[in-house]
Amino acid sequence: MQDYLKGLNPNQREAVTTTEGALMIVAGAGSGKTKVLTTRIAHLMAKGVDAFNILALTFTNKAAAEMKERIGHILGTGEARNLYIGTFHSVFARIMRGEAHRLGYPSSFTIYDTDDAKSVLKTVVQELNLDPQHYKPNACYNRISGAKNALVGPREYLNDYHIQQEDMRANRPMLGQIYAAYAQRCFKNGAMDFDDLLIKMYELLKNFPEALHKYQHKFKYILIDEYQDTNPAQYEIIKLLGAANENVCVVGDDAQSIYSFRGATIQNILQFQNDYDDVKVIKLEQNYRSTPNILNAANQIIKNNKGQIEKTLFTDQPTGENIKLVRTQSDNDEGKYVADAIMENKLRNHFSNKDFAILYRTNAQSRSFEESLRRAGIPYTIFGGISFYQRKEIKDYIAYLRLIVNPQDEEALKRIINYPIRGIGKTTVDKAILFANQNEISMWQVLESAAYYGFKSGTLQAIDEFVTMIKSFHSMLPTKNAYDIAFHVGKQTGFVKELFNDKSTEGVQRYENVQELLNSIKEFIETPISEESGEVGDKSLGTYLQQITLLTDSDQKDPNADTVKMMTIHASKGLEYPVVFVGGLEETLFPSGMSINTREELEEERRLFYVAVTRAKKRLFLTYANTRYKFGQLTQNEPSRFIEEIPQDLVDRSYAGGGLKNQSSGSGWGSGSAFDRMRKTTTPAQPQERTFVSAVAAGALKNQKEVAHTPSTNFVPSDPATLQEGMKVEHQKFGFGEVMKLEGSAHNPVATIKFDQNGEKKIMLNYAKLMIV
Ligand code: ATP
Ligand code: MG
Repeated sequence: MQDYLKGLNPNQREAVTTTEGALMIVAGAGSGKTKVLTTRIAHLMAKGVDAFNILALTFTNKAAAEMKERIGHILGTGEARNLYIGTFHSVFARIMRGEAHRLGYPSSFTIYDTDDAKSVLKTVVQELNLDPQHYKPNACYNRISGAKNALVGPREYLNDYHIQQEDMRANRPMLGQIYAAYAQRCFKNGAMDFDDLLIKMYELLKNFPEALHKYQHKFKYILIDEYQDTNPAQYEIIKLLGAANENVCVVGDDAQSIYSFRGATIQNILQFQNDYDDVKVIKLEQNYRSTPNILNAANQIIKNNKGQIEKTLFTDQPTGENIKLVRTQSDNDEGKYVADAIMENKLRNHFSNKDFAILYRTNAQSRSFEESLRRAGIPYTIFGGISFYQRKEIKDYIAYLRLIVNPQDEEALKRIINYPIRGIGKTTVDKAILFANQNEISMWQVLESAAYYGFKSGTLQAIDEFVTMIKSFHSMLPTKNAYDIAFHVGKQTGFVKELFNDKSTEGVQRYENVQELLNSIKEFIETPISEESGEVGDKSLGTYLQQITLLTDSDQKDPNADTVKMMTIHASKGLEYPVVFVGGLEETLFPSGMSINTREELEEERRLFYVAVTRAKKRLFLTYANTRYKFGQLTQNEPSRFIEEIPQDLVDRSYAGGGLKNQSSGSGWGSGSAFDRMRKTTTPAQPQERTFVSAVAAGALKNQKEVAHTPSTNFVPSDPATLQEGMKVEHQKFGFGEVMKLEGSAHNPVATIKFDQNGEKKIMLNYAKLMIV
């Protein structure tokens, strides 16, 4: 038996080795679903399936990276990088680069993040002469996003009686027009928002039979983790892709479905068996993660939900400790208690910082934990909060880079046209947009022919200089890498100098952030696509931009750092920690006050609680405070109803007191009617969350850099200095070849090598395992 199959239980092994046909695994938390998926990919490859033919969709980029790493370990080759493995968004963005032209987009299309999308919405609302107070970008965005994820296009939206009625009742009758104008505007800007990455992929497969055929043929094996949280758009895409070969394997747990507000529906799980000819269903019943006490508590909690798929879950582990239920006087006392408990557990039980996780319902709760951990000198990392790439100076810099790649990108253009100040004021910008709209061309095209549109001579000169500058940057694209261009842009625009000259504390911080951005671009060009093979890969500005747009905040932080991890329960899905604290178990906070009006909402909160509890391996602490500041008001809280759902013999109760004195203030898509799909997907907006940036967050990119710069452990290269053109070499993966060219800098030499079997490749000598023969 292959080594990787050892240690799997019989059901897991069956799931791994049943490679042909549709397969569904619905099983409880910690039963090895993700492990099965990873091992299955390794097994497919060991059986000779080409990595290029495997598509694996995960919920986070981090999960994808972990899977690749584990597969690399099992198979010991660099083949893992040829897998199409990642989140729906990142995989589809990669595919779209090559296919966007079919849908009328430039292949250099921009990906708009939520901020960009909201800014377009603001413009659209203004242009339609609607009240911006009434049609707030957030509300419009959520509604449009809901429609897109339900595969309801603008035309269908406008034509659907029920949707229109709903908007009337909500007193926002013009949402359909806003949606249509927004979609048009994004298209004109050559931009897709996050949801577009899904729906455009769907349109591609639905409307272009040759594209459908191509990808059906390519992705012979499809695997999906966390299937319970796929939304209708994702579901339809999988169905299309899987239809030809039917080798679709999905794993999920209906008890952990926690994204109905984003349009996910567990109907997908129930429907799966009808979608394919011969579906094999495998159960996994052994939990390998948690102690029996934790598992029993979780099982009892979820029993309060109606209509769960019946599952058994047992564990062989020793009973373990009771769950600690701790009441505190205030939220600050709660933070203090958790910090003390971490210290005590580290001392007595030899846990490390990284063994602890603090989970909460909303980001705002992180403050009190953060304060007490800092006071106690315990290092921590917060996942969530303001991401590095959301900071103004970083967004400005990136807007320049985006505009260079895609001059039609109006959002980017507006952002930097007068930054640093160059005499192109708001009136000029408004005029340019007006001309663009009147003539159905882009704002950039107006600027290019500014003389024709009759701008005043002073303004005209400023515009011409700006256009010439951007064009000169643009001309660097074919020959220069991302770093060279970015560095040049920073210098030529005077942008970096301006930040450098600002000596206020914030100014210094902004300058440092920009330097950090440049460092990270440098790192991008100096890191091979595979550390094992040292292969260079595409280092163009376009590739760099795509990569960072799809980074989430969590991806920028090192999950292996020896720090306590803090995150919302939503973000903790799929993860596990030896010791878990779940904070704020209070009515109106958890369950959230916004989610207790219907049974469906409450059941989703309960599933969230189930997810939280099942992250714990050895010890679980549940805490709640009598009083807490919420939006600046001191509130008194009842304990959460969920507490009573845990069998009391599994719980040790205690009180950690303290006084109040410590308080601080602080178009015919999909199936079913459009309305039905929308109704399933439009649920309450996410609660308003306050965010805090951690001290550690600022250093996050630095941490990542250290990791990326560490060469592989068994790194035995030939000394690059001895290497010369014409020499014969052997590469660990690509075999024998001849050195054709040597280039790159002294500290990062790059060789072009013509391999006998694998053709010509650029290899980074700092990474490559190369022997002179
Ligand atoms: P979740 O529902 O939370 O995503 P999951 O079902 O995906 O959980 P995994 O994360 O794959 O579960 O596995 C949980 C833990 O159990 C992991 O640490 C994994 O390595 C371990 N595990 C799974 N199967 C086995 C096994 N056969 N032997 C030993 N450990 C196992
Ligand atoms: Mg999992």
